[in-house]
Amino acid sequence: MFDTITVIGFGLIGSSLARKIKEQSLCKTLICADREESVCKTVMHLGLADQATTNLEEGVQHADLVIIAVPVGAYEHVGAAISQSLKSGAIVMDVGSVKENAILTLAPHIPENVSFIPAHPIAGTENSGPESGFSNLFEGRWAILTPIDKEKDPKAVEKISEFWKACGSMVEIMDAKHHDRVLGITSHLPHLIAYTIVGTATNLEEDTKSEVIKYSAGGFRDFTRIAASDPTMWRDIFLSNKDAVLDILQRFNEDLTELQKAIRNGESDKLFEYLTETSAIRKAVIEAKQEIPPAPIE
Ligand code: NAP
Repeated sequence: MFDTITVIGFGLIGSSLARKIKEQSLCKTLICADREESVCKTVMHLGLADQATTNLEEGVQHADLVIIAVPVGAYEHVGAAISQSLKSGAIVMDVGSVKENAILTLAPHIPENVSFIPAHPIAGTENSGPESGFSNLFEGRWAILTPIDKEKDPKAVEKISEFWKACGSMVEIMDAKHHDRVLGITSHLPHLIAYTIVGTATNLEEDTKSEVIKYSAGGFRDFTRIAASDPTMWRDIFLSNKDAVLDILQRFNEDLTELQKAIRNGESDKLFEYLTETSAIRKAVIEAKQEIPPAPIE
């Protein structure tokens, strides 16, 4: 599909893509570009790439496809570093969880003769680093593309769609602002709530905390998994998608206040109705085959 692919940032997403690229032979040469020498050493040791470098400029200069897989807060640095070295006709794709800000930050660094296709795979785990990746992470998951102008570069959009399909994903094209709103509710708010619940428990008395851990088999255990996600990545997501996250948080607070009132006033019917309505969403998630967390099969 490509002659040379360079993946910048060899963490969970970058290394999972690299594994799939190798498995499906989607390019002749795969290059790892990561700021950490230790990451480059691990990547070569695990055989995840053909070459590895900490020099981003050098890493991208022969690439037909450059995949940016670093936290969104590092986009300005990465964009500025690669801008002058990108090959004419190359495609740059990021995989960041926030799209409007990704476009605002990266697009000014992409030269006229290079295509930029922002993307976001709706797949992940709470783990980070090159060892945590696995090749079937994207299997049966959505990859959302948010091209700045669909009409301007249809060939690049088509090629990137084919790339994600080769990784096992289903592809959807969406406006970046709409993406950020949808993901604000389905991903960013749940993470914020998980961090808050686990944070509240952490602030409890020492003896109560030990009981929280002891009896965590209930809902709390699932929250601790989500709240173990990478703090750099999530700090960057909350700050980059600030408007959508704050707006959705406001609505959430209003609903929570309604439930609080219903409990205080013993409004049994109102509570029951609310709890019944939400189970329909769970059914729909299962029917859409999006309920099972991805698991490594290697
Ligand atoms: P990760 O496991 O933490 O990996 C990020 C990698 O990028 C690390 O190796 C990191 O190195 C490297 N890096 C950071 N800043 C860099 C820079 N300036 N130059 C070069 N390399 C740099 O993160 P991830 O989970 O793969 O996430 C990567 C991107 O995918 C993020 O934008 C995230 O929003 C998006 N995403 C994540 C998920 C998910 O569930 N994890 C899902 C979909 C999309 P250090 O170790 O030195 O920091």
